[in-house]
Amino acid sequence: MAAVLPSFWITHASCRLHRMEDGHPECPERLAAIEDRLLATGLDLFLHRADAPAASAEALLRVHTAAHVEAVLGTRPLEGLVHIDPDTSMNAHTADAALHAAGAGVLAVELALSKRAGFVFCNVRPPGHHAERDRAMGFCFFNNIAVAAAEALARGIERVAVLDFDVHYGNGTADIFRNEPRVLLCSTYQHPLYPDWAGDPDAPGLIDSPLHEGDGSKAYRDALQNHWLPALEEFDPQMLFVSAGFDAHVRDPMAGLCLTDEDYYWTATLIRDFAERRCKGRVVAMLEGGYDGHALARCVEAFVRPFVGA
Ligand SMILES: [Zn+2]
Repeated sequence: MAAVLPSFWITHASCRLHRMEDGHPECPERLAAIEDRLLATGLDLFLHRADAPAASAEALLRVHTAAHVEAVLGTRPLEGLVHIDPDTSMNAHTADAALHAAGAGVLAVELALSKRAGFVFCNVRPPGHHAERDRAMGFCFFNNIAVAAAEALARGIERVAVLDFDVHYGNGTADIFRNEPRVLLCSTYQHPLYPDWAGDPDAPGLIDSPLHEGDGSKAYRDALQNHWLPALEEFDPQMLFVSAGFDAHVRDPMAGLCLTDEDYYWTATLIRDFAERRCKGRVVAMLEGGYDGHALARCVEAFVRPFVGA
């Protein structure tokens, strides 16, 4: 058996400086709660730490239009907020945070492809999976997981899968990789819910497993086991990317699914086992949603544990 590669934890100080309105659920305290939990449980001892670099224009332009990149990077209010949509706004630090959140995925791919890392978790914000090729929305500016997946493809990986278990549908990732045969996107999400995606059973490369309000462990696990896994086996990805949102948890205030901490541990075990068998253990996970601070911190811990064997 091949030696297990180190696991990495990537973040950046700028990710805590991006702040929207007072009381906004997508807040810097989310990252702090996760970091505290990592230290309190000793899980940090199993992770190598790295600082996220800023993503290059080249990396961003693989998945976004030049107009969108310029609009995000050019919006730096000296004070106050600039509103992008009713729920999404930018302060003086948002552009830098978005740049480093996207850069985390680029570094993660570099570490994995140079065999310095197997599993990488990017503890970054703003999140990314709602950001479309030409549009910021739903707390997202650059599509971090898409930037990372496109980086792997640019470096010669032939097929990747993006696994998205955030409670909201990753419309941005679907928009960006529409008509990209090298990417398989597997999603579980609550429907109906923001952003009103009803699924597209005919679209090649999209494995949609909608769940309904009140659904819990069984419906969720059935979806991954019976819908995602067969598609993954057939697609045969060489690397896995995870849009790791934890807002399908029963305690989350933004949605109505009923997942537990154990479901995220189970999910990580399933992803790890597939990656070890088929993808040389290469898994890059990026934080997406999760808005109950305590539940979020516990769920990230539960998700990381199987990868580090702790
Ligand atoms: Zn979400």
